[in-house]
Amino acid sequence: MPSTESPSFSRPPERGGLAPYASNPAVSRGRRFVEPAASTRSDFQRDRDRIVHSTAFRRLEYKTQVFVNHEGDLFRTRLTHSIEVAQIARSIARALALEEDLVEAISLAHDLGHTPFGHAGQDALNECMGGHGGFEHNLQSLRVVDELEQRYAGFDGLNLCFETREGILKHCSPANARRLGEIGERFLQHRQPSLEAQVANLADEIAYNNHDVDDGLRSGLITIGQLEAIDLFARHAEPVRVAFPGIAERRLVHETVRRMIDELVVDLLDETRRRLALAAPASVDEVRAAAPLVAFSEPMRERAQRLKAFLHAQLYRHERVAMVMDEARQAVKALFQAYAADEALLPDEHRERVQRLGMRAIADYIAGMTDRFALKELGRLRADGSRSLSEGLPPRSL
Ligand code: MG
Repeated sequence: MPSTESPSFSRPPERGGLAPYASNPAVSRGRRFVEPAASTRSDFQRDRDRIVHSTAFRRLEYKTQVFVNHEGDLFRTRLTHSIEVAQIARSIARALALEEDLVEAISLAHDLGHTPFGHAGQDALNECMGGHGGFEHNLQSLRVVDELEQRYAGFDGLNLCFETREGILKHCSPANARRLGEIGERFLQHRQPSLEAQVANLADEIAYNNHDVDDGLRSGLITIGQLEAIDLFARHAEPVRVAFPGIAERRLVHETVRRMIDELVVDLLDETRRRLALAAPASVDEVRAAAPLVAFSEPMRERAQRLKAFLHAQLYRHERVAMVMDEARQAVKALFQAYAADEALLPDEHRERVQRLGMRAIADYIAGMTDRFALKELGRLRADGSRSLSEGLPPRSL
């Protein structure tokens, strides 16, 4: 039975120099199934550890971030992306005296619901699920930790704390919010999640904007020349060139990206501290009732927005990326149609789930696949055994 006992005291006890508005595992809104406390770890530490040990987490190693896994060994995958998000989020949390374990748990879990082949895979699955409630990777991340992982004798899912689950669910339609109960309430009441969730969300943005610059340049699909027209990049690349004349391009890129991350983090800390000083929340409840408190300054938000727009136009929609992603969409649709037409093609366990859950069980199965498993499966289902997609982009190393 879901249990969410209210905290028994209105003010969290003082602990380890954390801010009064930091989340506190000792007064968590609880887990869906009551469990005895761990002997050596707080509840948020335990959540983080459960995520690291999950099957879905290990699958992230072979799931596309932007470039399909086999396109090159040095590109980010969902796993390395999630680790970079956790690193940035933890640094921010420590500087703001927030709960680092919670921020790390949310960061490591935030992409667990991603399909194979990144956003192309999600779009295709969403189309296939059109008449059956659709598919959304963020909602799927929550589904993974709430229902799909099978590691515990007494319950499905990882049975994480409310605060971790709340942080994982970044956005939600009103219809889904009503269906989800207490975890969806804040979307109906227009309230904010914890500061730790807000930090993880913006750390995600800092991580992908910067590593996509790095990966984009490595792929040769975007150039330093193009990026020099983008303020956020140029304002750091220029002083590096001046200080280190003749610097090798690869090193220039790393040094510039390093400085970009630093400036974004410092700006975020300054703006967040300013907002915290103004709002002066005395508790997590006051954080939830306030306007968003973790934010970039307006000039930095605009700068980051211009970089994001550049990456969309020049990298994510680059014709060579689009070509591979188009194939990825076809692959996901072909898998879905094959399973929907003939359940016998599914492994026993999933066939049995289709009987209970209908098409949702097929979406769960496909969403759980890694890129290469999906391709292998496609080869098995196609009469001629062809997998395609296997050529992808030849990486051009800088
Ligand atoms: Mg992400």
